[in-house]
Amino acid sequence: MTAHPLFDIGGRTALVTGSSRGIGLALARGLAEAGCTVVLNGRDEDRLAEAAAGLPGDLVHTAAFDVTDGSSVASGVAEVEERVGPLDILVNNAGMQLRAPLLEFGESDWHRILDTNLTSAFLVGREAARRMTERGHGKIINICSLQSEVVRPGIAPYAATKGALKMLTKGMCADWGPYGVQVNGLGPGYIETELTRPLVEDEEFSAWVRRRTPAGRWGRTQDLVGGVLFLASPAADFVSGQVLYVDGGMTSVL
Ligand code: NDP
Repeated sequence: MTAHPLFDIGGRTALVTGSSRGIGLALARGLAEAGCTVVLNGRDEDRLAEAAAGLPGDLVHTAAFDVTDGSSVASGVAEVEERVGPLDILVNNAGMQLRAPLLEFGESDWHRILDTNLTSAFLVGREAARRMTERGHGKIINICSLQSEVVRPGIAPYAATKGALKMLTKGMCADWGPYGVQVNGLGPGYIETELTRPLVEDEEFSAWVRRRTPAGRWGRTQDLVGGVLFLASPAADFVSGQVLYVDGGMTSVL
């Protein structure tokens, strides 16, 4: 039995920001396994080369640029299109986490987390969409979070960036939908990565996550791949402005 043609994304070109490790790398691997040409992004060329060496096939490229810097993004995306080809899929995944009570949260950290988690999606999204809207097709997937919906003490700035990213997703859908570009979000629950390492290592917190998640466990990066492949595929051609939560059910229960 073969996969349904609506899910066939073989031959597409995808850029995944923040894919030197963690969720971005797993999503890039999934896209490569589905037959896409994949461009890995991060800030460090050596880390990207190492990540690329672990991916299957010869359709993997790297592009080191800082997604928070407008001119680096403009030259980075232009260079990717010139060297690799027109982008069909963009996954805005690069992000960071800073945990501190709001009364202790510094102004420079506020700007850093906003730049990394939100401004980056605007900058890379706009640069990709300039080209996609011209060509009349494209898929953009913004990696949101269960914290686009709910928040706990100590992570208000992170939740603010992810809540805003959800609305940016809807706004991109409104602006670019008429030009054939679908924009959606994917909202991971608690996933074991470097970003969540301190939480995984905190036994009390880790047990709370398991108790609080209907699926009874932490998420794995692999859990997110199917959702991204769906949103990147023709099966989702009439899906836009949505956030698909992949969280073992956590955002749905008290
Ligand atoms: P990691 O910290 O493991 O990876 C973050 C990635 O982002 C790295 O590849 C890093 O690359 C890249 N990155 C960070 N800043 C920049 C920048 N300025 N320019 C380019 N690349 C950058 O995080 P995760 O894999 O856990 O998270 C990925 C995304 O998923 C984030 O947006 C996060 O908010 C979101 N998410 C994660 C959850 C989780 O439980 N892990 C839950 C919900 C959402 P490098 O350092 O090499 O530059």
